[in-house]
Amino acid sequence: VKTKPLHFIQQIIRKDLEQGVHNKIVTRFPPEPNGYLHIGHAKSICLNFGMAEEFGGACNLRFDDTNPEKESEEFVNSIKADVEWLGFKWDGAVRYTSDYFDQLYAWAIHLINNGLAFVCDLTAEQMREYRGTLTEPGKNSPFRERSVEENLALFEKMRAGEFNEGACSLRAKIDMLSPNINLRDPIIYRIKKAHHHQTGDKWCIYPSYDFAHGQSDAIEGITHSICTLEFEDHKPLYDWFIQHLPVPAVPRQYEFARLNINYSVTSKRKLKQLVDENHVDGWSDPRMPTISGMRRRGFTPAALRDFCERIGVTRSDGIVDVGVLEFCVRDDLDKNAPRAMCVLKPLKVTLTNYPAEQVETLTVHNHPNRDDLGDRTIPFTQTVFIEQEDFREEANKKYKRLVTGKRVRLRGAYVIEADEAIKDADGNIIEVRARIIEGTLGKDPADGVKPKGVIHWVSATNNLDCEVRLYNRLFTDEAPDAGGKNFLDVINPDSLEILQGCKAEVSLASAQVGNSYQFERQGYFCLDSKYSTAEKPVFNRTISLKDSFGK
Ligand code: ATP
Ligand code: MG
Ligand code: MG
Repeated sequence: VKTKPLHFIQQIIRKDLEQGVHNKIVTRFPPEPNGYLHIGHAKSICLNFGMAEEFGGACNLRFDDTNPEKESEEFVNSIKADVEWLGFKWDGAVRYTSDYFDQLYAWAIHLINNGLAFVCDLTAEQMREYRGTLTEPGKNSPFRERSVEENLALFEKMRAGEFNEGACSLRAKIDMLSPNINLRDPIIYRIKKAHHHQTGDKWCIYPSYDFAHGQSDAIEGITHSICTLEFEDHKPLYDWFIQHLPVPAVPRQYEFARLNINYSVTSKRKLKQLVDENHVDGWSDPRMPTISGMRRRGFTPAALRDFCERIGVTRSDGIVDVGVLEFCVRDDLDKNAPRAMCVLKPLKVTLTNYPAEQVETLTVHNHPNRDDLGDRTIPFTQTVFIEQEDFREEANKKYKRLVTGKRVRLRGAYVIEADEAIKDADGNIIEVRARIIEGTLGKDPADGVKPKGVIHWVSATNNLDCEVRLYNRLFTDEAPDAGGKNFLDVINPDSLEILQGCKAEVSLASAQVGNSYQFERQGYFCLDSKYSTAEKPVFNRTISLKDSFGK
């Protein structure tokens, strides 16, 4: 058995436990409920919940809800569903940063009392000027030397709603000359007269991310606060608050590289734009890299977890090939999805030597090497459908399907030989007349003339009419949002193909949402959770059998 070397977060945790720094680790997954989760969040979920599972600790689910205008209960609910679907359990009740607003407010007052925070009346634009740049130092705000009493009174007025939004803010008093811009007197409270999905109208001032995050970690006893690399520069500020406040615990922040994946965008803001501007059919569109979109498409939790495991956890940014994700999906479905037959573009074949009224019940395996998945029956009749592309009047040797005068095996049924093609007035082939070769159920033809290949089929008189949706990549460019490009300009116009009048074997009438099937020779499919009805099943192609992109 090959064991993978521990990644750097595992090494840190193992060392902390061995050295007794912690007896038990506590991590958290802290999404802002301002959109649906995407594949990048899956990486963070697998890491945070995964570390807790692996080291016998706990992982909290905490909604980082400090921007009420952009957040909603719909997003809260979708995030909970996604985490559960991935197979993880958070510790205790769901938590919200807003649960701690009273405590955070008290800690803001603590900073004011210690001369470490002040109410600033600079406008946002002025504040930008005063802040300086990476190469230019900042300047002190003219309001920086307000007395403790004045600051307490003004902050109380902010809280009481006596100022308009933007009129003033509470800032930490740190160092306008710091080379780290995050330490140049950052805003810790701003006025937002917005209704909050959890706290209603109780507050009209809200803590900043930086002020809320570390303190919430401390309140929850988080030992390892794992976030993405863009927060590395915020760490000195994270630590500054923890040092200067009477917090009940000292959490530590660790950063890892975010997941980027080609042919995709992983930014909630951009995904929201795709939804709001109707480029896709909502957040759960099967083409979206959202967890709910991938679920509707038929990706499995096991495949996503395997993917997160394979890409690993590092501190160097990179772009993962979407082919790795597709490999994981195929790998899981190949092992676990029962097989079935569905003809996407039907062509009728009449078997002239087969009795018109006869229905033969054939038994076939649901999986080539999984006996536990059992058998099913399929009806065989005089007329069957095959794929249009599986018949040619003439073909060279490479074409291993049905050709006039040649033989092919119908999967799980007889070998047949084609006699002639029937055409309409425009010359389109509308029917093939063929014969079964007697005695070929599970056997080669007695005359020694073997079939050239095996094709899938369904009975033309006993089948399930359905719609099938084929998905291709949502973007034509492998880096849709790189280098000044607008991702909206590289949306693939052919990312969705809807096929009507597809014919599936009758057993698929009992398909359930959440189950996957391999449609023989076509790929992996699942019942669509949005558009399927009892009268008209809709199947999504999760993925084709082989990587055929660009070929
Ligand atoms: P986005 O930029 O897409 O809006 P976000 O970081 O603002 O993402 P949050 O809701 O704050 O979204 O994310 C919750 C957690 O998921 C954070 O800890 C964040 O670092 C992590 N996360 C977000 N995107 C990725 C990604 N692409 N790869 C790994 N982790 C991510
Ligand atoms: Mg965030
Ligand atoms: Mg973001």
